[in-house]
Amino acid sequence: MNKAINFLSKPYVEALLNRFLTYVKVDTQSNRHIETTPTTAGQWDLARKLERELRELGVSSVELDDKCYLIAHIPPSPGKKNAPCIGLMAHMDTASDVSGSGVQPRVIEHYDGKAVRLSEQYVLDPAEFSDLADHVDDTIIVTDGSTLLGADDKAGVAEIMTAIAWFMEHPELEHGPIDIYFTPDEETGKGMDNFPLQKAKAIACYTLDGGKAPEVEAECFNASSVKAEFFGKVIHIGAARGKLANAVAMAASFIEMLPRSESPEATDGWYGYYCPIEVSGNLDYAWTDVYLRDFSSTRMEERIAALKVFANAVEAQFPQGKVKLTVTTQYLNMKQKLDAHPEVLEKLGRAIKTTGYEPVMKPIRGGTDGSRLTEMGIPTPNLFTGGYNYHSRTEWASLSEMSLAVETVINLVLIWAE
Ligand SMILES: [Zn+2]
Repeated sequence: MNKAINFLSKPYVEALLNRFLTYVKVDTQSNRHIETTPTTAGQWDLARKLERELRELGVSSVELDDKCYLIAHIPPSPGKKNAPCIGLMAHMDTASDVSGSGVQPRVIEHYDGKAVRLSEQYVLDPAEFSDLADHVDDTIIVTDGSTLLGADDKAGVAEIMTAIAWFMEHPELEHGPIDIYFTPDEETGKGMDNFPLQKAKAIACYTLDGGKAPEVEAECFNASSVKAEFFGKVIHIGAARGKLANAVAMAASFIEMLPRSESPEATDGWYGYYCPIEVSGNLDYAWTDVYLRDFSSTRMEERIAALKVFANAVEAQFPQGKVKLTVTTQYLNMKQKLDAHPEVLEKLGRAIKTTGYEPVMKPIRGGTDGSRLTEMGIPTPNLFTGGYNYHSRTEWASLSEMSLAVETVINLVLIWAE
């Protein structure tokens, strides 16, 4: 019988921190405007590094494919050949919202609970970010105010690597087969497009891509991206009266119709939104990408229908112009498929409780590679990593919560082998 762990010893905590500090310094920012996979070359650097480290840990089945997906299989303990295979997944890229180049992480031991000046312009202040107040005396990792930190999702990567190191160094603990999936380009929304599903053996998987401990995310948005294209009618603007259809003005009119009360900045919890994320154009042609998010698929249909009404309204305002909408589904709410496999969350809940905490269920206002993997048939909820303020210069991470994530993963693997 395996004994559960609720304490990660100091050498592992130190190794976890060192891994994290090393990984965040590799610039793996992805780029949603590039069509190749991976979208940026820096992701190869981290993938090759992880491939090497896994081999050094003694994992023999490691494969980095031609699209930068790193897949590793860890065989079961001798007595556990029939135990189910469990997957652990994290993404290697960082968001494009803020620079991820030249990340200079700063480690603050025994955090005193006061505001931390990151740079001339940026301060990490508990008055603004109340979670900091819960971390007095913890070790926290912050930025120098010029880049993001990259805890999203290198905290997840470092935690999985540390849990694997732990299993490789504790062969007496019996576990079933473990799959590791490190993926590129999650932040572009296309991270799973080339996922080598045929190589995945897991019957259930867990992404380490959440935030605060001990949160578990088993429900996410339905997500669609709508490209709205505006075809104007151009004529010399000195002789344009009654003839010109200005594509720039058409795009502006369309964006103005999106309800501001249903924007990301006006909603939280279970409310969905419309968000124009980019716009570009000239007199002749303009376009905008609008992200639609909703937990309910019916409401998602209604949002798409609303955009069609807005497009018609723009055409009515600009009789010479045309509007074209192209709808792309990005990912779907994973709740339904997870409900069909209750043991996946039940075992995760038990793993967290073993560490001494009660799991907190929270909806994800976004998606993860796990929501896509769930659609592909492998139920994959999302687990906390101990990172905060993702996609920003004030991003920070808690070492105690990162350690807790490692303990949770170790317990989870042990529970699945019972
Ligand atoms: Zn992430």
